[in-house]
Amino acid sequence: MAGDQSCDVIVIGGGSAAFDAAVSAKKSGADRIIMLEKAPEAEYGGNARYSGTGFRFVHSGAEEMRELVPGLDEDYYRSLNIAPYTREDFLADLERMTQGRMDQTLAETLVDESNAAIHWMKEVGIKWEFLKEHAMVDGKRYFERGIAVHVAGGGLGQLSQWREVAEGLGIEIRFNSPVSAIHGNMHRIEGVHVCSEDGEYDLSGKAVIACAGGFQASPEMRARYLSGNADFVKVRGSKHDTGEVLRYLVELGAMTGGQWQSGHMSPIDAQAPDFETAQHADGRGNTQSRYDYPYGITVNALGQRFFDEGEAQHSYTYAKTGRAVLAQPGSVAWQIYDETGNKMRRYPHHKATVEEANSISELAGKIGLAPEVLSHTVEEFNAACMAEPAFDPTRPDGKRTEGLTIPKSNWATPIVDPPFKAYPVTCGITFTFGGLKVNSRAQVLNTLHEPMKGLYASGDIIGLFYYNYPSFTGQTRNAVFGRLAGRSAVEDN
Ligand SMILES: Cc1cc2nc3c(=O)[nH]c(=O)nc-3n(C[C@H](O)[C@H](O)[C@H](O)COP(=O)(O)OP(=O)(O)OC[C@H]3O[C@@H](n4cnc5c(N)ncnc54)[C@H](O)[C@@H]3O)c2cc1C
Repeated sequence: MAGDQSCDVIVIGGGSAAFDAAVSAKKSGADRIIMLEKAPEAEYGGNARYSGTGFRFVHSGAEEMRELVPGLDEDYYRSLNIAPYTREDFLADLERMTQGRMDQTLAETLVDESNAAIHWMKEVGIKWEFLKEHAMVDGKRYFERGIAVHVAGGGLGQLSQWREVAEGLGIEIRFNSPVSAIHGNMHRIEGVHVCSEDGEYDLSGKAVIACAGGFQASPEMRARYLSGNADFVKVRGSKHDTGEVLRYLVELGAMTGGQWQSGHMSPIDAQAPDFETAQHADGRGNTQSRYDYPYGITVNALGQRFFDEGEAQHSYTYAKTGRAVLAQPGSVAWQIYDETGNKMRRYPHHKATVEEANSISELAGKIGLAPEVLSHTVEEFNAACMAEPAFDPTRPDGKRTEGLTIPKSNWATPIVDPPFKAYPVTCGITFTFGGLKVNSRAQVLNTLHEPMKGLYASGDIIGLFYYNYPSFTGQTRNAVFGRLAGRSAVEDN
């Protein structure tokens, strides 16, 4: 690689945060930008490759969404029921989900920059479409609060659009280029060492933007930092997100943020592969996510319920529900629905491992649970379901149980209507919450709480979240902090 020893901006990673940052740096005036992607070309893109690419951002409702999806059919537009999502709504969601622990300044940066970042993506050439996952009632499409659109084509669609934009701007992408060391110290970062199959070399840059993802694909780091049994979880996304860049930077003196013992962990098909769970044929999202639990009950291997399946709409609970499953005996559970609940499932297009029976005790036998215990759990649950108010899938309906140790707070409907179905689930990890501490200009701070000159970060490698996470905030965080990182990298250097 002689002659290739320096550039203006080095971006570590080849996922969406990396593309956001690289394109932002270019648009801010950087001349030579090199993206270093550890993965081979056929596997580039990190978690973004598997992402549903939904974005949560402050918006004013259906009319604004129409701007993002030009050429929308008029009948489709009239069917949209999308309430505005305000700054206060988004901040309150982050506050509630992270139990008040998220850095308030960074929460405000994320929220206040979210709308502009999404419109910026559209301006640079990224296309949008509406989410398929919504409730359809009386011809109206009801989307969960704050979420309605995703990037057209899902994970692979987003990556190929970003790649076209980046290469069109002259940004160089080097595949098979793992960064194996960072040059500099806790005060200033000057470049990186790349260990490719064809040889090793140093690359210096006026700025380095770290977008190398979380550490979820490293069993060793999961076991070291996360809660019990975490070395057994299934990794929903890329096998390349093994956390070494995060480790190098922490060892150099970078400050950390976010909850290191936690991550985004959701229920996933118990038969899913250990890494990179399968995608839809159209490249969108993940076929093995199991997010319909609000319409049934979930029991563990002892035949007992263990969490409130109806606490809130799934987008506010799914990222912590996998962790609840992980803590159960054998780290498995079964989502149980009757025919009515099964019809409410919004992910029926997902392939699934499932058992079916005409009675609960027969179903118990098929999934290896004690028939009398599962029947008792279901009967006790059914008897506790309040008759009023009416079931309403478009919002938290207040139709709850009464008198159970573990309540179901919404959508509590007796499980009586055969056939009954049981979907085995385990914990799938999406990304880790612990990472680098950044400021609202995406500069990485050191353990003196001062910016490390020349170093910026975005994406899962930054530590922001605690306990839980409102769906679709990861991609928004990438766009917001990636855009800031690219801009700051040019302004400062
Ligand atoms: C199945 C699934 C569905 C999801 N759906 C959504 C959704 O709908 N909405 C949403 O907001 N979020 C979603 N997410 C989360 C979101 O995709 C991630 O938060 C986001 O992709 C993280 O972006 P990133 O660029 O930080 O990391 P990644 O996309 O993981 O990219 C990290 C990159 O760094 C590279 N890398 C790692 N180590 C090195 C090294 N040593 N040297 C060089 N490169 C390195 C990796 O190869 C990779 O290219 C989903 C995730 C998954 C797995």
